[in-house]
Amino acid sequence: MIVSKHVFVTGGVTSSLGKGIIASSLAKLLQARGFSVTIQKFDPYINIDPGTLNPYEHGECYVTDDGAETDLDLGHYERFLNIPTSRANNITTGRIYHNVIQKERRGDYLGKTVQVIPHITDEIKRNFLLLSEERKYQIIITEIGGCVGDIESLPFIEAVRQMKWELGQDNVIVVHLTLIPYLKSAGELKTKPTQHSVKQLSEAGVQPDILVCRSEYPLPPEIRKKLSQFCNVDYDSVIEALDSDTIYEVPILMQKEKLDKRVLQKLRLPYDNEPKMDKWKNFLKKLRNPKREVHIGLVGKYVKLHDAYKSISEAFIHAGVANDCKVHIHWINSEELVEKDLAQELAELHGVLVAPGFGDRGIEGKIQAIRYVRENKVPFLGICLGMQCATVEFARNVLGLEGAASTEIDKNTPHPVIDLMESQQHITQKGGTMRLGSYPCKLKEGTKVYKIYNKTIIHERHRHRYEFNNKYLDMFEQAGMIASGINPDNNLVEVIELCDHPWFIGTQYHPELKSTVDSPHPLFIKFVEASIEYAKNKNKSALETQRVGL
Ligand code: GLN
Repeated sequence: MIVSKHVFVTGGVTSSLGKGIIASSLAKLLQARGFSVTIQKFDPYINIDPGTLNPYEHGECYVTDDGAETDLDLGHYERFLNIPTSRANNITTGRIYHNVIQKERRGDYLGKTVQVIPHITDEIKRNFLLLSEERKYQIIITEIGGCVGDIESLPFIEAVRQMKWELGQDNVIVVHLTLIPYLKSAGELKTKPTQHSVKQLSEAGVQPDILVCRSEYPLPPEIRKKLSQFCNVDYDSVIEALDSDTIYEVPILMQKEKLDKRVLQKLRLPYDNEPKMDKWKNFLKKLRNPKREVHIGLVGKYVKLHDAYKSISEAFIHAGVANDCKVHIHWINSEELVEKDLAQELAELHGVLVAPGFGDRGIEGKIQAIRYVRENKVPFLGICLGMQCATVEFARNVLGLEGAASTEIDKNTPHPVIDLMESQQHITQKGGTMRLGSYPCKLKEGTKVYKIYNKTIIHERHRHRYEFNNKYLDMFEQAGMIASGINPDNNLVEVIELCDHPWFIGTQYHPELKSTVDSPHPLFIKFVEASIEYAKNKNKSALETQRVGL
């Protein structure tokens, strides 16, 4: 029976220091030493989950196999560890309060006044421990969202304090991530903000065991000593976290600084085996030394914030490495595309991905981009809304169904080729009510997508309300757009592809959510491969034209 030990990761001085990446890197190193480890995130906001948040608020909403709409850090956890997360891996203040209020309504508190302490903190602790009940993790890393000192994170910090007291120093440790700014005018690295944030943490009763210090410059011994002395941590528990050009280097940086070893020492776990990071290092080497490059357009309406498409851009990194290729993403705002000359805008690209999304803003730009890539035989991958737009484009411009649309965009369209799913007809609540999570899909033998996956039944994750309207399926298939993947239980169309196009695939599901460093997604690998091929042919024909011209 496995009893879990806990590592809490808190943040100080400022947000956006990359707690998720530090937590993932530590977890990776521990996993590479043979420990079973998982990561969970506790977010201090009141939304029950991030599912209802605009991507500009909080970046992408990541969906787990069991259909939870979660923080994008869970994507990093999965990409680093190559193991799935679940609903239990992401809890918000909203969820905690929701649970407590439900218990109160049920009468579970037996007439007591329900208070932040102990009821909210008890509920937080119960949730901290949920994954340890599975008895399969030796170490659970818990990332506390936000910054120490925020009013809203106080109950979480108090719950961490109690956990330390209840389970003991050997079973619970705190890693505090902080910033050591460099003051140009003074020519110095400054430790004071870190001292203040550690002081704030200690005022709440929590003494950090390890400091991870983000810095633009290496920390000299006197700075490390100062941090150790004034923040009350061991000298060798002051860990330097230098800025890096890729998040995938961070585990290696942390290994050099022995973060994993310090954690194991403090948790009284064995640390003789060095982590086996050869595969990871090989990935990093390939990432740094690409043999070729391609340019792929990502058409979407939230392109100003790249975090809104985090899993897609990471999946391109994985697939790029698998092809020894650097993928340059061109972020294309679909709302601006309509006014621009498409041919000019897309001419330099070797592939186009049309992104997931909601609502009608930017739709026409997406449809026009799809028409261009279909007619010009540019490799195309449409994800969710991207696949739906490809369907609409085909209906309008190939089938001649004038005014064809998705009913999400035009309720009164004469040709609802994409329509609200039966199961969604009576749903009015927004949060957590889409078709979410992993479902099976049966691929048709002989199709492009079958060849890519090389199997019949696949499982992919979903997040949508609308769906291909099967009434039109025959028409589409006769004209050369086929449904190459179908849900075997209810016949929903999951994949479409064009027969007379080298690489034109749309998926109702989100392949990007399952791409990891160890297991890049086959659709992305093959899409990048097709883009490389397209680039080669384009260069060849450009040379031909030049020669003929001469
Ligand atoms: N808005 C579309 C739907 O709900 C597509 C969703 C998506 O792209 N994730 O079906």
